[in-house]
Amino acid sequence: MPDQPSHMTPEEFRRHGHAAIDWIADYWASLDDLPVRAQVDPGDVRRLLPASAPDVGEPFDALLDDLDRVVVPGLTHWQHPRFFAYFPANSSPAAILGDLLSSGIGAQGMIWATSPAVTEVEQVVLDWFAEALGLPDAFRSDGAGGGVIQDTASTATFTALLAALHRASGGDVRRHGVGGAGWRVYGSTQAHSSLVKAAMMAGLGEDAVRTVAVDPATQAMDVDALRAAMTEDTAAGLRPVMVHVAAGTTSTGAMDDIAAVADVVRDRGVWLHVDAAWAGVAAVCPEHRSHLAGVEDADSFVTNPHKWLLTTFDCSTFWVRDRAALTGALSILPEYLRNAATESGEVVDYRDWHPQLGRRFRAIKLWAVLRTYGVEGLRAHVRSGVALAEHVADLVAADDRFEMVTEPSLSLVVFRLTAGDEQTMAAMEDVNASGEAYLSHTTVEGRAAIRLAVGSWRTTEADVDRTWRALQQAAGRVSS
Ligand SMILES: *Cc1c(COP(=O)(O)O)cnc(C)c1O
Repeated sequence: MPDQPSHMTPEEFRRHGHAAIDWIADYWASLDDLPVRAQVDPGDVRRLLPASAPDVGEPFDALLDDLDRVVVPGLTHWQHPRFFAYFPANSSPAAILGDLLSSGIGAQGMIWATSPAVTEVEQVVLDWFAEALGLPDAFRSDGAGGGVIQDTASTATFTALLAALHRASGGDVRRHGVGGAGWRVYGSTQAHSSLVKAAMMAGLGEDAVRTVAVDPATQAMDVDALRAAMTEDTAAGLRPVMVHVAAGTTSTGAMDDIAAVADVVRDRGVWLHVDAAWAGVAAVCPEHRSHLAGVEDADSFVTNPHKWLLTTFDCSTFWVRDRAALTGALSILPEYLRNAATESGEVVDYRDWHPQLGRRFRAIKLWAVLRTYGVEGLRAHVRSGVALAEHVADLVAADDRFEMVTEPSLSLVVFRLTAGDEQTMAAMEDVNASGEAYLSHTTVEGRAAIRLAVGSWRTTEADVDRTWRALQQAAGRVSS
């Protein structure tokens, strides 16, 4: 017998485990003094690493040392209190510990039988979360529907499209592929790029996505234009299969009118998928649910606790009204996974709810977040983000060098310099390059705009004010 490798002893594991948690706590404490955006050039990080893996094992401490020396300078600090770019990707202490426990358990939850608790905890946590968001009962696991945790909203949208194709084709797509049936998918010009990618992955091709115009003022889907597009396509012999509604677009947080879209698709048998990746979690607050009005008519819904809601990436929660369409599209049963529980029909095998087979016990981190914050704690987090965004909007209104581009959407504020596009981009780049804060941009109706997304778990009003002062100084520099 060859020698066994030397695994850490339980005592070493405890010691290094404590050191790793200490490292994280120290890292967070140091963030305030670090530039938010990475300050390295391409290749800078690679150059600091040896060309090959060590032949002989090193102490774990050497890796922690390299985190400080090699990794931290090459990081953009997403947990920084002045990270306002894109959308937040909040971690939280509770979620990290939950994730760690999931790693320690190391179970595969591909089917119920491979670890029943992985499936059943996930079902209960998703039912809890659906209730906390005020989602319709139809999405709960005790009826025909149910929820599942996926890696990302992109995967959820892809999965929704596969289910939609299955339903619309009566199972034909599963057997023979999409063929040349003329399938059409609809989303607004502001729909997330994962919609086009889903059409590409499903074999429909990007031309199968028909983009629908938006109202220039609100950036929300023009529902009359959707109706006209679907009528025109149907008359031309094409087959509408899915409409993607954005409850909070990535660019400006625009809210498509779910109920109005539902009216258009209701009698056409078209799948209605609601992408609320960022804004959906705000529905933990009853006063921030209006953007989901009409969701009771949706066939599927996705939101990402891994953005705003304190659940370390990856955790994307996806619900369907009728799980049969999903499992019909994706179920597969190789001999080596045959088992009595599956055959009894009494259990859910999550393998049939997404593209991949293997799956982590992600529910623990969401369970840890829901239990330690409580729904009230999560509401407080969302409310503080929304209040800070209102504060930003007030600051914009009070300085005539700036103007709002769209109405604030929950915790996202989109504004620009009145001086013009070039000045807008230059002022933002100035702040980003200084490391004081990190903002990102978009274009709205062809004009440049700055996006300031509040909602990081570590952001205070002082951080927002400090960022605003940096922007004001930058505005002064670029206009003089
Ligand atoms: C962020 C975002 C996505 C993509 O989320 P992933 O989980 O990274 O795939 C999709 N749709 C909207 C509206 C988003 O804001």
